Amino acid sequence: MELLKQKILHEGVILSESVLKVDSFLNHQIDPQLMMEIGNEFAERFRNDAVTKILTIESSGIAPAVMAALKMNVPLVFARKRKSLTLVEDLLSSQVHSFTKQETNEISVSKKYLKEADKVLIIDDFLANGQAALGLADLVQKANAEVVGFGIVIEKSFQKGGELLRSQGYKVESLAEIQALMDGQVLFNKKKEEETLT
Ligand code: 5GP
Repeated sequence: MELLKQKILHEGVILSESVLKVDSFLNHQIDPQLMMEIGNEFAERFRNDAVTKILTIESSGIAPAVMAALKMNVPLVFARKRKSLTLVEDLLSSQVHSFTKQETNEISVSKKYLKEADKVLIIDDFLANGQAALGLADLVQKANAEVVGFGIVIEKSFQKGGELLRSQGYKVESLAEIQALMDGQVLFNKKKEEETLT
């Protein structure tokens, strides 16, 4: 997705060889126009998958996911990272180790909002080692619902998450794939994009 790539090139800050900061449009301040385009792109890529629900994790997945949900006309549920006073219903829970924060969180959703008949599209801002994605998939499996695929805004292909999910047979659609963060530069995965274009 060209607009997203331009944003990453112009506004992304490389914190290390493995971490990219995109606080100006996705992780702190949010660019609504870009989120709308991202939502439209996810809706297009999953239009034949009969999605009934979108699932993400708070907080950075919510903006792109809500725009996709709006376009696909389905509800969005976000998993919570900590138990809230109001989240007292029967819960589905899973453990997720955070790559950026180096901590393990229990993520939860109410059983009310994930049902057996649901065909769930999982959306997240980044895909690194795949722990958040697998934790969300685990919640869907615990609800006996179906994961139809993963919509990822930025995949870092040099980490193992993408391979892990694809090797389990999941459809993974990433809007920008980063091959390396090297010498202060973001290198996109050209080969994959050329394949998509043909
Ligand atoms: P994973 O579970 O795939 O290892 O990591 C995905 C989660 O970690 C995402 O939900 C995202 O919040 C965070 N994350 C992983 N890598 C990065 C990164 O390079 N930059 C930012 N901003 N977040 C990241």
